[in-house]
Amino acid sequence: MDKNEVIPILKACPFCGDMPQIVFGGTFRVQCPDCGANGPPFPSIEGAAKRWNRRGSSDPMDGFA
Ligand SMILES: [Zn+2]
Repeated sequence: MDKNEVIPILKACPFCGDMPQIVFGGTFRVQCPDCGANGPPFPSIEGAAKRWNRRGSSDPMDGFA
């Protein structure tokens, strides 16, 4: 079991409720395939996922639709 392969569970998109996915383009980023919302780029999958998840729970834009 390689912990580098663990992908954290992502929260649903705070904008449209769709399930986001992790994309890679030099850095990792969580992106919603439906509305195009995306989180900040991160050097690790885990970091990108954590930032995305935090945005959904404590960001003032939570619930924005
Ligand atoms: Zn979305």
